[in-house]
Amino acid sequence: MFINHDYIEDILEQGKETSMDEIHEILKKARSKQGLTHLEVAKLIQTDTEEANEAIFKIAGEIKQEIYGNRVVIFAPLYVSNYCVNSCTYCGYGRDNDFKRRKLTDAEIQEEVKLLESMGHKRIALEVGEDPVNCDIDYVCHAIDTIYATENKNGNIRRINVNIAATTVEEYKMLKEREIGTYILFQETYHKPTYEQVHPKCLKGDYDYHLTAFDRAMQADIDDVGGGVLFGLADYKFELMGLMLHNDHLEEAFGVGFHTISVPRLQKAEGMNLSDYPNLVTDDEFKRIVAIIRLAVPFTGIILSTRESAGMRKEVLNYGVSQVSAGSCTGVGGYKEEAEFGKKVDQFEVADHRTPLEIIKELLRDGFIPSYCTACYRSGRTGDRFMRLAKSGQIHNVCQPNALMTLQEFALDYGDTELKELVENVINKEVVNIGKANIKELTQVNLEKIKNGERDLYV
Ligand code: SAM
Repeated sequence: MFINHDYIEDILEQGKETSMDEIHEILKKARSKQGLTHLEVAKLIQTDTEEANEAIFKIAGEIKQEIYGNRVVIFAPLYVSNYCVNSCTYCGYGRDNDFKRRKLTDAEIQEEVKLLESMGHKRIALEVGEDPVNCDIDYVCHAIDTIYATENKNGNIRRINVNIAATTVEEYKMLKEREIGTYILFQETYHKPTYEQVHPKCLKGDYDYHLTAFDRAMQADIDDVGGGVLFGLADYKFELMGLMLHNDHLEEAFGVGFHTISVPRLQKAEGMNLSDYPNLVTDDEFKRIVAIIRLAVPFTGIILSTRESAGMRKEVLNYGVSQVSAGSCTGVGGYKEEAEFGKKVDQFEVADHRTPLEIIKELLRDGFIPSYCTACYRSGRTGDRFMRLAKSGQIHNVCQPNALMTLQEFALDYGDTELKELVENVINKEVVNIGKANIKELTQVNLEKIKNGERDLYV
């Protein structure tokens, strides 16, 4: 199997006692955006000094800026079923937690989607617990169709990333046919003994089957896959190496690695206590995790959720995060319940409770460009085609105009006076920076068209 525990432990051992000169050499290589070897990553991980961290954050920030500019992609999760046959010790949906399970009807899905659309969302991550009987693949596929078909005034969902449990090639083919965006699955932990301990006696407990899920997804022609680790279960150093090995395996076997990496940190949930988990990562370690991923796999998006506080989200956007969720509910039917009654018990607790409008305004004030763009996969820019464009640096020529166009759409449809002003300022400033003359011209024309009522324009 491609996650060799002895190899990871050995390479982490070799990474110890690295000099600052070596760190600077590694960072020089990282700066040229060619990625890093396992040993180089291990050396960065093992050198947790103030001087090294400062240098790591600086270079990660420069890479982030060069590849992603100030853009931040916005999304929201949508939970449609909390039936679950698993016993993940850390999860509020675990089968032993006693609460009334349910899945949304078509009408309820439509209600949730309309609420998300009224917040301006265009991109969602579809989330379900694992239950092959109560929430089978037909239900998931039907939910996807329903979501894509639900519109609210100018609002529609243009990209559905799907986070369902590891499954078969046949079922991944069904997802592919639904035109999903990225198939997302967190390994939770690459450390097999920990994996087996936190998934006792359940379907998800098969480490190898879970680990090879992306192989099956790619065999089914899903070419954008998003990995992740639930940080806090096992030693974060081991997990970072696990992510690297997994990414390399996909690159070798299928020619393209992770499209995105998610970095969820363990939160308090129903039926579990954080004090039972000895490997929780500190805020400082978390920042290092984000920065080291950015250095090691510069072209892979990094996704951050509202599990993190507003302050932490703002900071790690500078070191590498490229996508954030906004206004999230992690309960089934949560958007309606929140609209009607306020918060309630969810899969886990979130730390950032601001509305998307508040988040967008703050991002703009901090110099970021929130993007609701979903153009890539709709234009066939997926898998290695996306990676080639990203690596050539040409990505700016499509991402920047698309970010500005979708931001203008958001401001016109969902913004107040303050937001409209912030957006107008950013557009005036940023259109100037679009490189290719023909694309700059097209962007200007499209921005006018959007003002006049047209929607969903992109390059
Ligand atoms: N059921 C799907 C599976 O088996 O992969 C995944 C969907 S689950 C709704 C999404 C993710 O939430 C999980 O993969 C896990 O990493 C994360 N999660 C579960 N409990 C959590 C907790 N207490 N704190 C933070 N994240 C948690």
